[in-house]
Amino acid sequence: MHDSWVVKKKTAENNLPLVSRPNEKTVVRVGDVPIGGSGAVVMAGPCSVESREQVSSTAVAVKAAGAVILRGGAYKPRTSPYDFQGLGVEGLKLLREAGDLSGMPIVTEVMSEEDVEIVADHADMLQVGARNMQNFSLLKKLAKTNRPILLKRGPSATVKEWLAAAEYILHGGNESVVLCERGIKTFDNSLRNTLDLAAVALVKEMTHLPVVVDPSHATGKRSIIGKCAKAAIAVGADGVIVEVHPRPEDAWSDGAQSLTFIDFLGMMEELAVPVRPVFAAV
Ligand code: PEP
Ligand code: MN
Repeated sequence: MHDSWVVKKKTAENNLPLVSRPNEKTVVRVGDVPIGGSGAVVMAGPCSVESREQVSSTAVAVKAAGAVILRGGAYKPRTSPYDFQGLGVEGLKLLREAGDLSGMPIVTEVMSEEDVEIVADHADMLQVGARNMQNFSLLKKLAKTNRPILLKRGPSATVKEWLAAAEYILHGGNESVVLCERGIKTFDNSLRNTLDLAAVALVKEMTHLPVVVDPSHATGKRSIIGKCAKAAIAVGADGVIVEVHPRPEDAWSDGAQSLTFIDFLGMMEELAVPVRPVFAAV
């Protein structure tokens, strides 16, 4: 029997020993950006990389407004096979170029085991998409890379399953994991998903790993993304990741939830204002 399996079996009350350690705090470095330190970080960029002009102009605009990490998808997990699937390697190159141009590290999704090497060659941080959270062979392969991982919560995953997915990566040798709450499926279909901010507060008490929130996929609704980002930080998130597009109405994916440059600037201004004081009775 495998030794480490026996060790885990013995710690029955805590079968996620590597992610637990609630009294410690891990700071994950993406390029020179610390996630999990004293300041919340803002990651921003288009849902999909579409063209040089689109991703570079977005990078420059979000950096100027205060973003510190550039996001953008080159391999897209789409519900329909007829939807845009991403530019692949060409998208990785354009994202890298935009990151270098604006002076930001980049995060992008890796969808399959076979793409891990090429994505790790181009990107500073590798994203595991919500639909892949329990792709255990992908998680095991990512554990062997020297890149930090952004692990999205599956749309129907419990907190324990989410942490167990992170445990796979830590157990395999990669301690640089950032958890990302991006909304879950519930009975309510008034928004794209249900943003589970209570889980963020809870997970912050359960793990030493940083936790960030994606209010774009959680809501699917541009007008409330800034407010949800602010609530996420108020509840203890170490940062947010949001979608921004120069012309959301023309976006090849997720236009309805993409902020314009002006919207993004508004969100950053709103994040800088303290949460209002509670009325105090005299
Ligand atoms: C994305 O970040 O563009 C994405 C597809 O996210 P998720 O996996 O959370 O749906
Ligand atoms: Mn998207």
